[in-house]
Amino acid sequence: MAAPSHTSVKSRDTVTTLADRWPILGQRRPLVVYLCGIVVLDLTAIGFFAASTDFHWHDLLTFVALMFCGAVCIEATRRLGMPAGVSRDLLSAWWLPAALLLPPVYALLAPIPLQMLLQKRVRETVVYRRVFSSAAISLAGGAASVLFHGLVGELDIPTQGTGGPILVAVGCAVLFTVLNTALIAIAAHTAVPDTRWREVLWNRESLTLDVVELCLGVLVAIACGVNLALLVLALPPVVLLQRSLLHAQLQAAARTDPKTGLLNAAAWQREADTEIVRARRTGETLALLIVDIDHFKRVNDTYGHLVGDQVLIGVAATIRSQLRDYDVVGRFGGEEFVVLLPRADVTEARRVAERLRSRIGRMAVPADENMVTVTISAGVAIMSMHGDDLIELLAAADLALYRAKELGRDRICLPATPVPPARRPGPEAAPS
Ligand code: GH3
Ligand code: MG
Ligand code: MG
Repeated sequence: MAAPSHTSVKSRDTVTTLADRWPILGQRRPLVVYLCGIVVLDLTAIGFFAASTDFHWHDLLTFVALMFCGAVCIEATRRLGMPAGVSRDLLSAWWLPAALLLPPVYALLAPIPLQMLLQKRVRETVVYRRVFSSAAISLAGGAASVLFHGLVGELDIPTQGTGGPILVAVGCAVLFTVLNTALIAIAAHTAVPDTRWREVLWNRESLTLDVVELCLGVLVAIACGVNLALLVLALPPVVLLQRSLLHAQLQAAARTDPKTGLLNAAAWQREADTEIVRARRTGETLALLIVDIDHFKRVNDTYGHLVGDQVLIGVAATIRSQLRDYDVVGRFGGEEFVVLLPRADVTEARRVAERLRSRIGRMAVPADENMVTVTISAGVAIMSMHGDDLIELLAAADLALYRAKELGRDRICLPATPVPPARRPGPEAAPS
């Protein structure tokens, strides 16, 4: 059941107007405190190191050359676009050399012009996210720079090709990556506490990318330290790598619902179809759930769409966190989710659905002074028992969901009667 019915209803216009103008105000209080803390820490570090650094023309020239290369990389890949949400780039290839070759203040400043360029030229995202990303990279780069110069002393020593300083440079590059990932993972986890740490930290793909970034950064630092003009040779391969990386991310984004990070309806249908064919071949059981948030419209009407979106994100994360890696979860559309549970029989499917219902019922999303809670209804259909292919299973789960709504919501139902052929929706004709 949606919280609006038992929480005081505020003047919705005031809340949304303020939250629309300052989206950070729509976030959880701990997240706001964390984001502001990191940005203040970064500004303090910039102030401190700027005051204690002697500026030299050669350093400034190196900094401008590195930022120019970063800008060329951004411009050269701009037309490909950038997937929404957390996306990866290879800009560390320019931030790391700034950290290793120049005094720490440059590493602290480096993300600012490039993040501004990304915001203006590539994807205009919510400003607080840009500012936080910039501060996280800045602090990670600053820390790596301080450590490197503290351990190695002479600023251009990695360019002499001696093993020791290069090893220290690699170690500092690792520190940069770990710190940056940790700062961002803490924000992601604070935003949606139900997210698994494993999901916001590393997976095999992001680890590979981190290693590539680290290698590129150290190699560019050495080349740039030997002779600034060598940046001309480093730039084309980095641009090419950046383009292929973006291409891969855009392909992945085409399968994903940008708001929740779950599979979109079309991708879910493809994966579900594959699982169903496999289950038919092996004779294993399989279950399908359609999950629908109860009275979700009231959440939007009372608290605004931004809070509604946070609820959707929270529900999606809770569903994901409660399932096995090989379960197939998608956003079917609006406030409806679909889950395919390979190898689940009726008892297991009911147990999972009840667990989702209870976990989502306990989830609370802050909205001004209130905590918004919601309930879900779910329809369950079992392979062979309620249908033999995806369309039949969806139709059966849809009927069951309809029953759950009719019986008062906040419950799990199985279909009571065989599926009539007339009610056979595809993912486009989602139940509501
Ligand atoms: P029921 O219990 O019968 O399911 O009622 P309901 O209010 O949840 O269902 P209804 O279909 O009447 O309303 C669904 C609402 O979901 C309407 C729509 O504005 C909202 N919605 C759909 N997609 C989004 C979204 O991406 N963000 C937000 N904030 N709201 C969405
Ligand atoms: Mg609903
Ligand atoms: Mg619905």
